[in-house]
Amino acid sequence: MKVFIKEKSWIAKLASLKLRTDNCAIVFMNTIYLHQITKQEFLASKNLLRHEIMHVKQWKREGAFVFLYKYIKYSFQLGYFNNPFEIEARKASLNSAILDGITIS
Ligand SMILES: [Zn+2]
Repeated sequence: MKVFIKEKSWIAKLASLKLRTDNCAIVFMNTIYLHQITKQEFLASKNLLRHEIMHVKQWKREGAFVFLYKYIKYSFQLGYFNNPFEIEARKASLNSAILDGITIS
C-alpha cells in the first residue's frame, strides 16, 4: 500500500486548532497531512507513524464515505478519545507489523 506525506498542510493546521495541539497529523484517504512537524520527524516518531498508518488502513477498509460518516458520528457520540477508530489506532501504534507492506513517498 502506498502512502503519501504532505508537510505544512493547512488542513492539519485547522485540525491542530480544533484539537488544541501544537503539531498535528491528519489523514485523508492515503495521504497524511502534517502541521509543525517535518516529514523526517514524523517518520522517526514510530508510534505516531503507526497510528496514522492505521487511519490510512481504516479509510481503505471502510471506504472513504463510510469512514468519514462513522468517524464524525463516533466523535460526536463518544468524543475523540473513545472513538473506536482512535482506540484501534492507539493499539496499532504499539504494533510494528502495522508498517508491513507500506511504502511511503
Ligand atoms: Zn488518530
